[in-house]
Amino acid sequence: MTKSIDLQLNAKSIADIKKGYPLILKEAVMNPEVLKEEGSIIRLVDRNWRFVAKGYYGEQNKGIGWVLTKNEDEEIDFDFFESKIRKALERRESFFNDPITTAFRVFNGEGDGIGGLTIDYFDGYYMVSWYSQGIYSLKHHVYGVLEKIVDYKGIYEKKRFDTKGQYIEQDDFVRGEQGDFPIIIKENGMNFAIDLNDGAMTGIFLDQRDVRQSIRENYSEGKNVLNTFSYTGAFSVAALHGGAQKTTNIDLASRSEAKTIEQLSVNGFDYEQQEIRVMDVFDYFRYAKRHELKFDLVILDPPSFARSKKYTFSTARNYPELLMDAIAITEKNGIIVASTNNASFGMKRFKTFIEKAFTDAGSKYKILEESSLPKDFRTNRDFPEFNYLKVVILQKTK
Ligand code: SAH
Repeated sequence: MTKSIDLQLNAKSIADIKKGYPLILKEAVMNPEVLKEEGSIIRLVDRNWRFVAKGYYGEQNKGIGWVLTKNEDEEIDFDFFESKIRKALERRESFFNDPITTAFRVFNGEGDGIGGLTIDYFDGYYMVSWYSQGIYSLKHHVYGVLEKIVDYKGIYEKKRFDTKGQYIEQDDFVRGEQGDFPIIIKENGMNFAIDLNDGAMTGIFLDQRDVRQSIRENYSEGKNVLNTFSYTGAFSVAALHGGAQKTTNIDLASRSEAKTIEQLSVNGFDYEQQEIRVMDVFDYFRYAKRHELKFDLVILDPPSFARSKKYTFSTARNYPELLMDAIAITEKNGIIVASTNNASFGMKRFKTFIEKAFTDAGSKYKILEESSLPKDFRTNRDFPEFNYLKVVILQKTK
């Protein structure tokens, strides 16, 4: 038996963990010198060396690992992973039974009991994302469990633990059958082309499913739509399914053009009727103002941080300015979908950005809808910081 590692945490952190908080915060650790090898199972103890919980060591921005169990007798072994993954699959039963949605998240990190690990399902293919070297070193359990309990076509992985949580380039194929990419998955009957072996991103962000559906059902009919930071144009696909008159797609990455054409085409839309521009959103805003272009629906879903040749943008600092640009080119009574996936602030703060933008723009608004992660992205309600997605759909009333 290997010697157990007792990691002593400060009183605040111990109290939080007793209440169910899953993250082991770096600054809470009193004896960091015991942390040697990522992936080690650690016993979390209080100032009197009394057992509180077990977890694993894995460096991931503000945390150095995750709590796995508060039961001292529970071993962190194959059976542990199996029971967590089984439970998670059971919770997604309605998704597996839904014939018009074939891609969703089956395991959402700490929300399903193992932080640092997510598993997404794409029509028979499983994509496992690893957020630290520590959890990656326990991969034999996860792949063993998948082997045992699911029928899969193939398994792919994303290593997301380079410095600053960056994706590590590699051949992401793990086992099974190689996908003939792009494969076409369905979401509420819409088609999306997916590639699981083409870098960090797959072609669609599954966490925006509910927002796509709302855009399609409630805000698109007959509308002139501007989709900024459009990536593969997934929001535009939804808008066109909802009867949008036209979409304009703006993204800086040159890959976005071909990818958008592909998503439009697999849905039977003529891409030549849509505008797809590879350019900086901030330049586009200037262009639109100069030409007095106005839109009925403007979608804003920027990355948390972006640096282009001319601009540096951070949602935590510059969201109000971004919104002001959007407000200027939104029709009166038009709709703005304001979204952010920045986990460093919550919904309350996000709404202050919206308030500031409209005040500074001398304009007025009404909030129509607010949403966060869809239910397959399971999170613990007591700890909203892990529910990173914040979406506000609002109407510009003046
Ligand atoms: N809204 C998209 C996802 C956006 S991902 C969706 O729902 O599918 C963020 C995108 O922003 C990336 O494709 C990136 O290329 C783009 N991007 C980052 N900075 C940009 C900028 N300054 N101008 C335009 N696009 C930018």
